[in-house]
Amino acid sequence: MSDRWIADRMQKIDASGIRKVFDLAANMVNPVNLSIGQPHFDTPEPIKEALQQAVRDGKNAYSQTQGIKPLLQQIQSAVDAEYHHADRQTFITSGTSGGLMLTLMTLLNPGDEVIVFDPYFVMYKHLTTLAGGIVRSISTYPDFRIPLDRVRAAINDKTKLILLNSPCNPTGHVASEEEVRGLAELAKEHDVALLSDEIYRVFCDPGTFVSPAKFNDQTIVIDGFSKSHSMTGWRIGWCHGPEHLLQQMIKLQQFTFVCAPHPVQWAACTAWNYDVQDRAADYRRKRDLLRKELEQDFEIEGAAGAFYMFPRAPWGTGTEFVKRAIDHELLIIPGNVFSEQDTHFRISYAAPDETLLKGAEILRRIARAGA
Ligand code: PMP
Repeated sequence: MSDRWIADRMQKIDASGIRKVFDLAANMVNPVNLSIGQPHFDTPEPIKEALQQAVRDGKNAYSQTQGIKPLLQQIQSAVDAEYHHADRQTFITSGTSGGLMLTLMTLLNPGDEVIVFDPYFVMYKHLTTLAGGIVRSISTYPDFRIPLDRVRAAINDKTKLILLNSPCNPTGHVASEEEVRGLAELAKEHDVALLSDEIYRVFCDPGTFVSPAKFNDQTIVIDGFSKSHSMTGWRIGWCHGPEHLLQQMIKLQQFTFVCAPHPVQWAACTAWNYDVQDRAADYRRKRDLLRKELEQDFEIEGAAGAFYMFPRAPWGTGTEFVKRAIDHELLIIPGNVFSEQDTHFRISYAAPDETLLKGAEILRRIARAGA
């Protein structure tokens, strides 16, 4: 194989940040692992059983591209009940990532700009680039709130899309009604598409989550079962938005993903009706526990939802602080994996309490020891 085989677009995708972390972690023997971006509980039993049943029942061929009827109907009626938009259609995707990829490929022309909020979920940057778009990142430091004035200033003729993720990976910030409404109205006013990644929606205090679809009926929403039901490996999610746009996305799904895994769609019917509120409550308890353990020694903003905290490194860069943590057998992720700046680090509290307490003890110790 020669170098000319690889398409130029691949040069624009730089996976070195996260790879460096795993390189650093390679020699860890028994790490205290607070780096994992998925729930630490297993998929609930009834959902596992539903998957096995679907396989045994022969639901193993392709499904319709947009998804199986029973699942679509359940999600569509919930969406209709929540938003009452005449034009809002739903389809089933191969994970939230699938919905993200299809949205970007369907919306972006080469050179179109996408507004993302820094710190951001890494996939946004790479998939935007892959689709030919240009990332306009807007810093949300230090408190991770959406800076509406800066969004307004960043919008220009090339702006095609604004990407919102609340609750946010990696900061845990849950955007307030004021922030969300402001953003939704800005998008409407400037005829810019708005994509809302709601994959952590269940993981926040009851009543605090607000979708921009409430204020802007053209909002595209992507969501999935990966985090809420611990189904990351099953690759299933859903998308809802304006019908005309969704038809284009479904057309592209037909020639890319084809359909979300068919037996998994049947299991998702069970997942949709499986209450995960006790799990969400447990993560809120973990959030409060970890915050109490760390707040004396760390500056922590956001940290309201998802299962992440993004504290400022008390000394050095985020990477320097993480290297020291790794020397002490604690695995966390430096902020520059998710950001243009290297000042913070991400902790995932999707872990047993014992691991959280051990991790917090190491963090306090290295914070106090200084550089
Ligand atoms: N969006 C965000 C913000 C995420 O953190 C993740 C998973 N880490 C995804 C999307 C992708 O999730 P899925 O497994 O549904 O593709």
